[in-house]
Amino acid sequence: MNPIYKKIKVLSEKYKDYTAENLSKLIKIKSLSQDEKLVQLELKRQMEEANFDEVRIDGLGNVIGRIGNGKTILAIDGHMDTVDLGNLSNWDFEPLGGEIKDGFVHGRGTVDQKGGPASFVTSGRILKELGFDKDMTIYFVGSVMEEDCDGLCWKYIVEEEGIKPDFAISTEPTNLNLYRGHRGRMEMHVSFYGVSSHGSAPERGKNAIYMASRVALEIEKLNERLTFDEFLGRGSVTISEIISESPSLCAVSDFARIHLDRRLTWGETKESAVKEIEALIEGMNAKVSVLDYNETAYTGLKYGMEKYYPTWKIPENHEIVQTGVAAYKGLFNKEVKIDKWTFSTNGVTINGVYGIPTIGFGPGNEVLAHAPNEKVAIEDLVVSTAFYAAFAYEL
Ligand SMILES: [Zn+2]
Repeated sequence: MNPIYKKIKVLSEKYKDYTAENLSKLIKIKSLSQDEKLVQLELKRQMEEANFDEVRIDGLGNVIGRIGNGKTILAIDGHMDTVDLGNLSNWDFEPLGGEIKDGFVHGRGTVDQKGGPASFVTSGRILKELGFDKDMTIYFVGSVMEEDCDGLCWKYIVEEEGIKPDFAISTEPTNLNLYRGHRGRMEMHVSFYGVSSHGSAPERGKNAIYMASRVALEIEKLNERLTFDEFLGRGSVTISEIISESPSLCAVSDFARIHLDRRLTWGETKESAVKEIEALIEGMNAKVSVLDYNETAYTGLKYGMEKYYPTWKIPENHEIVQTGVAAYKGLFNKEVKIDKWTFSTNGVTINGVYGIPTIGFGPGNEVLAHAPNEKVAIEDLVVSTAFYAAFAYEL
């Protein structure tokens, strides 16, 4: 085994309690989207304690730790916001307790996804200890607002902070597999404009609910014929909400609107998805619109983007995938499984918008994301810690 890999393995094992305790501290701080301030201060403190070269918080509230000051830029990203706890009676333990027991760290956010950042803080500590001096800059990013608007944080980092990495690793949970993409998504409204009349004489009006209903049934059929990709699977569309208005409950409805959750496979874009819906409403007084996200970060900054999260995938023979394969094999002397996420990540902007080669590798099983009894194996944290450090040497 490469002697550096051997040292990385030994140190990631040696620091396993340190990593688990750092994660436990992050879990004890509740951090819903737009309310990440306290957890970000704790992550910053951990990076400083781990001897990073520089740690700062940007205008949107992302924590950006840096090691090295060289030519090739690698970013390792993990979002620090979590979803809420849900029904407490479904939990067998205290969701914000951060309990370390039986080889696991317990609580909301252990899998999705503070386990990634807790692991990469230790990777940074190890790189510093080993005197990492390649011609590289590594940014370790604890990002914000991902659960509400995946990728927004990286739009800010690229466009406002001017940081454009050459390579990126997402630390979202992959069950220690290596992921190279996922389907994209978008949210659309279809609005229908009818004409009201007295409810006793519906033939005088034009009912917006009937217009929407006809289109709703066409959307159900559309779902059956969407594009299929061998790696990412099929695109999908569903109606998640329908609302309507009328001047009175004794009148014909003159407005209806349906909300679409569209999942985009390879080859499907915002333009193609909008066109498909426009074809269904042709000749009707109706229109399709793509929604916007525009919210205030905990720093007070208002920032947003269109709710279009492009599909991305990286070819298996790409340098970044093969670097990950080699780092894993160098450490563990076995092949890493290559796969994809079911859900969406910050990769939608990092790769989907900016084209930065990206892979995923992270602790925890994604089936526990957003679910009760979320917990992560400490062994997963150890493996991830070693992987991020080895990747930096392998690149
Ligand atoms: Zn996540």
